Amino acid sequence: MRRRGLVEMEAEKPKLILENGLRTDGRKPDELRPYRMVVGILSNADGSALVEMGGTHVLAAVYGPREAHPKHIALPDRAVIRCRYHMAPFSTSDRKSPAPSRREIELSKVIREGLEPVVLTELYPRTTIDIFVEVLQADGGTRTAGITAAALALADAGIPMKDLVAGVAVGKVEGMLVLDINELEDEYGEADMPVAMMPSFKKITLLQLNGVLSPDEFEEALKLAEKGIMELYQAQREALLSKYKPIAEQEE
Ligand code: ADP
Repeated sequence: MRRRGLVEMEAEKPKLILENGLRTDGRKPDELRPYRMVVGILSNADGSALVEMGGTHVLAAVYGPREAHPKHIALPDRAVIRCRYHMAPFSTSDRKSPAPSRREIELSKVIREGLEPVVLTELYPRTTIDIFVEVLQADGGTRTAGITAAALALADAGIPMKDLVAGVAVGKVEGMLVLDINELEDEYGEADMPVAMMPSFKKITLLQLNGVLSPDEFEEALKLAEKGIMELYQAQREALLSKYKPIAEQEE
């Protein structure tokens, strides 16, 4: 995250919870940003999806399973999943260097690990599944939007999965727990906690915490994340159905 100096931050810290109890963008504490999900947005990838959570817009593309190259990375009993998270140079207000940063390398790993538990890799030995997560516009919560989009792209590629995965970041701002934090809340809040889950199994596949939460706050934050994830899961199902239901009906 882009961090400012402490003195600079205190001097210009905006008010994040307004007099009326709402957030700077008018949301209630437990409200997601307006979201949109579209599946199959690219014709050359095997699977793709676009996920928008407010000002955060993320595109995911999946290729595979395909023969592993170079051959020495292949595993005899399952597919290897590779993931690249990348922020487009135009995705932030200051141009971001297109070269992979330490943060992007870390996020590529956590997104991959957040998806691996659902993919039935054992069905495709000696192959690779490549996931590309491209952040088109960043306003907080790009890793979780990236996971939500990548899960849709995997499903769109027809890769067998145990469940979908959806993610959202919960934060603490001015002592209050809030769902789906934007960049301002991420930057000036006291804590942020990205969470991803397999919604049907209620199993967590990604959990990070930046900042400090008490044990009770942690429990509450997790419940808040689960509520958001279940709503996003419904939206994921609808996005998949809106592409595949007409196709299935045509074939009947
Ligand atoms: P996440 O996007 O998953 O919340 P971070 O907490 O690292 O990950 O980043 C929070 C937000 O800070 C991002 O969503 C983005 O809006 C902003 N940000 C991150 N990296 C940069 C960067 N290099 N330049 C400008 N803004 C950035």
